[in-house]
Amino acid sequence: MKFEQLQQALSVVLDAANDDAVLILDSGQPGPTVSVVALTHGNEVTGIATAHQVLEQLQSGQLKQRSGRLQIVLANYEILQDSKDFESLDRFRFEDLNRIWAKSGDGEHEYLAKERIRPYIEQSDHVIDLHSTNGESTSIGILMGPDTAQIEAMQSYLDTPYVLLEAEKFLSGMALVEYHQNSRKSGLSLVIEAGQHFDFSTIETNVANTINLLRHLEVLEGEPRKQVTHPKILKVYEAGIAKFAGEAITWTYSNAPKGFDFVEKGTQICHLNGEPVVVGCDSYIVMQQAQALHAGKEMYYLAAEM
Ligand SMILES: [Zn+2]
Repeated sequence: MKFEQLQQALSVVLDAANDDAVLILDSGQPGPTVSVVALTHGNEVTGIATAHQVLEQLQSGQLKQRSGRLQIVLANYEILQDSKDFESLDRFRFEDLNRIWAKSGDGEHEYLAKERIRPYIEQSDHVIDLHSTNGESTSIGILMGPDTAQIEAMQSYLDTPYVLLEAEKFLSGMALVEYHQNSRKSGLSLVIEAGQHFDFSTIETNVANTINLLRHLEVLEGEPRKQVTHPKILKVYEAGIAKFAGEAITWTYSNAPKGFDFVEKGTQICHLNGEPVVVGCDSYIVMQQAQALHAGKEMYYLAAEM
């Protein structure tokens, strides 16, 4: 996909949206309100490509609304709108929009974006927040809350090899979906990490997952497709946090760390902030970073099978 195509996809959704950059599609039938959020991180552009494709399929009649209300929420969209090329895309301008939901700011860019979209998140029964990862990775579901029914729904309807639980406990700040789960205490609050930011082959799966979940939530017509291979459900039990920006981590278990590398109990996986890290149980290493963007950045998560 070309950069211009992504900007074009954004402008199509933006043109159809209201002044808060939220596109509301009301079915006219009673039912749930579901928000699909794109561009919470300015450089995670597969989310807008996905939202655009869902909108196109609705407009062409290929998809039909069934009940309730579908909201396409454009979060930190100005970054894509104002950038010139892939290289100049940033995750955020002032502060990570996905870590500030328990803080109040002083009119800075991401705080304004948060206040703009917050009412729509609060009135949503369900939220699907579309992200992608820095490094090469498979797609991942990150589910908030301990609700067994939601976990089962992910196993049935989400086509990802892994679903992470309890990641919110280890974030340095509050994420959008965690805010949603905290304010609603029910419903689906889910992040889908599509894969690497600019791996556009992931868009197809991302679109299929989004549509399947929207069918499961009964905002779109059609039966959701049941997954044959269920995702592995992993519980996050630790995060490695950088104490300073830059070279905070050296990986030692592998020369080429990838997402979801499995290591046995007792393996030394890295040096973090100058200290060796040894895993206390059989673990998957998730969302490894090579460099710390800033102090307080999560450099990896450790997760174990439930
Ligand atoms: Zn993200």
